[in-house]
Amino acid sequence: MSERQPDENQAVDFRVVSWNMNHWRQPTRPEDTRAKGWDYLRTELRPDVALLQETVPPASLDTRSVIYREIADYRPWGSAIVTRPGLSLETIWAVPTRFSRRRFQLTNTFPGSVAIGEVAIEGIAPITVISVYNVIDVYAQTTLLRIVADLIPLFDSAKGSRVILAGDLNVALTTQDPYYLQRGGAILGALKGLGLVEVTEIAKRRPAPRPDCPCGAKGACSHLRTWQVHELDHAYVTESL
Ligand SMILES: [Zn+2]
Repeated sequence: MSERQPDENQAVDFRVVSWNMNHWRQPTRPEDTRAKGWDYLRTELRPDVALLQETVPPASLDTRSVIYREIADYRPWGSAIVTRPGLSLETIWAVPTRFSRRRFQLTNTFPGSVAIGEVAIEGIAPITVISVYNVIDVYAQTTLLRIVADLIPLFDSAKGSRVILAGDLNVALTTQDPYYLQRGGAILGALKGLGLVEVTEIAKRRPAPRPDCPCGAKGACSHLRTWQVHELDHAYVTESL
């Protein structure tokens, strides 16, 4: 029996979508826009991996292709990872780091707001995917720092070298207010401290920059509008990807 080693440098087409589906504000009557959103995801966007927030996956989905937990409390919805049929998806719940045999549970902050899985893709090494919804608990800043702290062991584990992390972080640098720039820059910088790079800064194909971005760079920035004029949603990958 021959064994084919995955080639870490091999290029494969792989489509990832990050989407806050805004479940709780979508009406089901007269038109069911929740169902329409899922139809759009499955028939138009057709990602290999969907990293979803503020969502409730339909019960009709194959449970092997879904990772989802409800945040609960006042939020009967949560973050999810949904893969296309045929891809293997496994939950990553806890990992040991290279420092100890102790295993660290990874989703301690508002459980249900962060979903973590490992996707197996034929021909290449598995990829760890993370869907993040940063709950605003008066502060978005404090929650995101806690989420980064939860994730540190993952990045010191065997699962931390090939990671795609995306979601609604509710932290934006699309401002000229020094308070938000200083805090936001440091907190999003903590994600970079995990070994992640922001996709908007490295993508070769991307929407044209907007001269009217509220950051004031007049077209010299890489910000995307993801909510009104602001960039609240972000996508990161490890340098290896
Ligand atoms: Zn900008």
